[in-house]
Amino acid sequence: MAWDFHTEPEFEEQLEWMREFVRTEIFPIETLKLGYDDVLTVIKPLQEEVKKRGLWAAHLPPELGGMGFGQVRLGLMHEILGQSPYGPLVFGNNAPDSGNAELLAVGMELTGRHDIRERWLQPLLDGTMRSGFSMTEPNTAGSDPRLLSTRAVKDGDEWVINGRKWYTTNGSVADILVVMAVTNPDVHPYQGSSMFVVPVTTPGVTILRDVGAMDDPDVTYGRFGNHAEILYEDVRIPADHLIGPEGAGFQLAQARLGPGRIHHCMRWLGQSQRAFDMMCERALSRYTHGSLLAEKQTIQNWIADSMAEMHAARLMTLHAAWKMDQVGASAARVEIAMIKYYGAQVLYNVIDRALQTYGSLGYSADMPLEAMYRAARAARIYDGPDEVHRQTVARHALRNYSASEIPTQHIPTRQAAAREKFADMLEFLEADQA
Ligand SMILES: Cc1cc2nc3c(=O)[nH]c(=O)nc-3n(C[C@H](O)[C@H](O)[C@H](O)COP(=O)(O)OP(=O)(O)OC[C@H]3O[C@@H](n4cnc5c(N)ncnc54)[C@H](O)[C@@H]3O)c2cc1C
Repeated sequence: MAWDFHTEPEFEEQLEWMREFVRTEIFPIETLKLGYDDVLTVIKPLQEEVKKRGLWAAHLPPELGGMGFGQVRLGLMHEILGQSPYGPLVFGNNAPDSGNAELLAVGMELTGRHDIRERWLQPLLDGTMRSGFSMTEPNTAGSDPRLLSTRAVKDGDEWVINGRKWYTTNGSVADILVVMAVTNPDVHPYQGSSMFVVPVTTPGVTILRDVGAMDDPDVTYGRFGNHAEILYEDVRIPADHLIGPEGAGFQLAQARLGPGRIHHCMRWLGQSQRAFDMMCERALSRYTHGSLLAEKQTIQNWIADSMAEMHAARLMTLHAAWKMDQVGASAARVEIAMIKYYGAQVLYNVIDRALQTYGSLGYSADMPLEAMYRAARAARIYDGPDEVHRQTVARHALRNYSASEIPTQHIPTRQAAAREKFADMLEFLEADQA
């Protein structure tokens, strides 16, 4: 029976190297408060080191320039990189570029069109091109993408796109936008939507603004990590900018979101661990009401609960990754849905407890916790709000049950049945006792 929680020694060695590298080379950059271009300059030598080490863009298979690690190893790696917002950038697998590269790769696989690689995929991998993923619309519910209203209509050798999107992360600094649009409103939405590559310079594309949000309420336009609102008005793109077959939009989205969610959850665990480390350090350092915080039962409960929750989230996430490696993203749908809402809540809980342990210092910008807290709140919304994932899991669970007018465990009913089943024995026992 195979039931093994070990990491191979060779890969564990790589993970150990990453832990040290992230702590000593990447953490310090966070404090410099650099603009995106300056960050890119500062991390260049680090990226070279990652490439030399064979850890660059590990989310893609070797034939596409990645390492083909599989989801379990990738998950373990993301747990380390996720500790810092710059980790994924240094390792060539930052969102949304990594997810877009994945769906371009799937599109290439589905159509055999290898031009996709040199036009968009390779530049994304090399970091010479930036992308945004443009699916959510302000006027329709993002939690139900069957309601998408952006339309793409074929006109000769071109597609013409009309619609309004928002929350396109990195939209205002992107070179290309991956746009999801309805191409056939007469079939079920799962077969009637498609994805396109739209260069931002195409006439008709207007980046209206970057949306001020909890991560940056007074947003400055055109910064990496912003979320853009974009108008697509009679945007004409050549037919070969369709990614994958026509109508494959949801299939591509699924290919992108499945692994993406596992990586998110592992990155969240990296963030949780960092908050947990801060909480424990403070608990051992702060003295009040006659003892250290570490000696107060409430703080001990926070530490114990956080540790148990992180452990549970980690096992669930690695199990989902393992299942995905074994049977694919579609068959691991329920496990992936579970980690999305469970992991997002654990992240939120642990950071919240750590922040509280620090009191006013935790709330201040002198500690990273306030920024981590703000970022953590979004995890319960993006990639599908928690409630939708809970719905998926509950529906799946309910499939194994059927309605029953009398509960199957109703004791009087079961007792009557048991009396009938054991009637002879009961008769014998009664006669024996008489
Ligand atoms: C930081 C951040 C980055 C993002 N980046 C991108 C990006 O790069 N590209 C992109 O396309 N989108 C992006 N999004 C958008 C995100 O994917 C959507 O916000 C998300 O899918 C939810 O859609 P919505 O905001 O329209 O919420 P709605 O669909 O309006 O839902 C609102 C609320 O209704 C509730 N709800 C919904 N469905 C159910 C249900 N079935 N049962 C019970 N309650 C329900 C939930 O509480 C939900 O939060 C980003 C969002 C954030 C916050």
